[in-house]
Amino acid sequence: MSNTIALQRLLNHVADLLLPQECFVCGAGSGGEAVCAACRAELPLQPQEAACPVCALPSPGGAVCGRCLREPPAFDTTRALFAYAFPVDRMVQALKYHHRLALARFFADRLLELPPPEGADLLLPMPLHAHRLRERGFNQAAEIARPLAAAWGLPLELATVRREREVPAQAGLDRKARIANLRNAFRCARPLTGLHVVVVDDVMTTGASLNELARTLKAGGAVRVENLIVARTP
Ligand SMILES: [Zn+2]
Ligand SMILES: [Zn+2]
Repeated sequence: MSNTIALQRLLNHVADLLLPQECFVCGAGSGGEAVCAACRAELPLQPQEAACPVCALPSPGGAVCGRCLREPPAFDTTRALFAYAFPVDRMVQALKYHHRLALARFFADRLLELPPPEGADLLLPMPLHAHRLRERGFNQAAEIARPLAAAWGLPLELATVRREREVPAQAGLDRKARIANLRNAFRCARPLTGLHVVVVDDVMTTGASLNELARTLKAGGAVRVENLIVARTP
């Protein structure tokens, strides 16, 4: 990482912490919030009731969708808060690539407005590969999960699962190829016998990474895997 980029990130981080917040979306004063109340009310929500309980895609009446019936994923349920659309997509990118950590807190606060996961034993942020973690300096999923763990009184598991492989670009691969690409991408460092795990991630696209993570957790003994996602792509 060049010194200039490092300095820019540090400045963004400090600005996030110290300066009176301007709304990330409209730039107006926001009273210390990352997004002002007016913009918050306009953010694109993912349907909660009329969504497939397994993959969180829209589904009439909240029925399990055809794809999840045909090929049930390894995870049991998914809740996604926002649709991955403007301006949520920009917010996620700003958090990930420009160190706008106040947005992690903002997302966590919105997730805390959902009913807490029932019977959960631990929160597990989607692990980043060690290379990626060094490059970025933080795991955005862990930053989002941290306030949830505190509010719900659940342990935050940062070392339970390691990402073993940097996954090559998934774009352009079909679903089967993506799944093959991800095989054994994760390694579970301890038994999870009988545990109900809540996985936290910023974005769910095909769900292939989440599926492979859930497969690993269940192979490690987990009985239930629930995904809690900030934004779902359509
Ligand atoms: Zn605003
Ligand atoms: Zn589904």
